[in-house]
Amino acid sequence: MRNKHFDTQCVHEGQLDDPIYKGAISPLYLSTAYGYEETDRYPRYFNTPNQVGLAKKIAALEGAEEGLIFGSGMAAISTALLAYLHAGDHVVLQNDLYGGTTNLVVEHFHKYGIDYSFAENLTPDAFKDKIQENTKVIYIETPSNPLMKIVDLKAIADLAKSHNLVTMIDNTFASPVNQNPLAFGIDIVVHSATKYLGGHSDILAGAVACSSQHMTPIFAVAKSLGGNLSDLSVWLLERSIKTLSLRVRQQNKNAQRLAEFLSQHPQVAKVYYPGLQSHPDHELAKKQMQGFTGMLSFELAEGVDRDAFQKSLKIIQPVVSLAGVESTITIPAITSHKLLSPEGRAKQGITDQLIRFSCGIEDIKDLQSDLDHALKTAIDEG
Ligand SMILES: *Cc1c(COP(=O)(O)O)cnc(C)c1O
Repeated sequence: MRNKHFDTQCVHEGQLDDPIYKGAISPLYLSTAYGYEETDRYPRYFNTPNQVGLAKKIAALEGAEEGLIFGSGMAAISTALLAYLHAGDHVVLQNDLYGGTTNLVVEHFHKYGIDYSFAENLTPDAFKDKIQENTKVIYIETPSNPLMKIVDLKAIADLAKSHNLVTMIDNTFASPVNQNPLAFGIDIVVHSATKYLGGHSDILAGAVACSSQHMTPIFAVAKSLGGNLSDLSVWLLERSIKTLSLRVRQQNKNAQRLAEFLSQHPQVAKVYYPGLQSHPDHELAKKQMQGFTGMLSFELAEGVDRDAFQKSLKIIQPVVSLAGVESTITIPAITSHKLLSPEGRAKQGITDQLIRFSCGIEDIKDLQSDLDHALKTAIDEG
């Protein structure tokens, strides 16, 4: 249960008092050395005042008992997975995960004796098919990158409970504004706070949110791995989250309008956005999300030159990251998914003409005309 409403929590939850000067915002404590009479306080123990305050805010936004702030999304993800997987254990993962997570599993897990399987598709049955006797964790990411497919949170949580497994979700693409997986029975939420939580393309950070019971092993491993965020960045991230709800709701709105606009555009072959009725998972998304996110993907029609399209954009910037207040695009075939073979990409539905779009908070009319102009300019006359 929330003790205040979401937007109020974004602004106020976890704020530190300034008893001396009565400042309106959290004071920043940069000290790495604290007196030992009272507590064992040290930045790597995640217990500086600013870390504790921000962890409370993120926990509140996810409806969790506890939060933990990390130096990157991958620090949060690797710590959470390694806390729950030991030599001899097995994990079932979604097949189209964030590339860094796939790398962690495929490149490194064998060194720790951890076994894994990727579900063939996103249906609960596909996850069930891969559960074996030594399975301990199910790991998902929804909406997925870049095709915005939706995994059924409640079905996965129920499946895991019936097999005594722990569930983890990467909730980065949705953000806590649009989706709170713990409410559907998922155990552990991880975030790349580099994306919506930070929201201005200037902070690298990560977070975990879950019950106190689920946090215990994560905290134990986290202290040893030492993937903390510096207190200065913690303080900046706290400031960023004050506007999280405003930003994301505007990004949702822009994404919906752009998805509709692009669906009608002759130079666009296909649009992937869960807010569209035509999206195969639209009903499921409506059931488990408060908003459909600021992320969408679309395929340029045949005869539209991808590179010319990209070069013709004037406001929208081609960059690798996402979720900032500025609109950006990425071409998955040459960035996030370039390590896959062309056949591997084709199997996931990622064509060379696919553009992933991260909606900013600009005026929709400017975004539409920027896209429209670039799409028309890029028509291949050859
Ligand atoms: C960016 C991203 C990550 C990794 O986060 P970093 O902060 O770059 O370590 C993990 N998951 C998703 C879905 C992401 O977009």
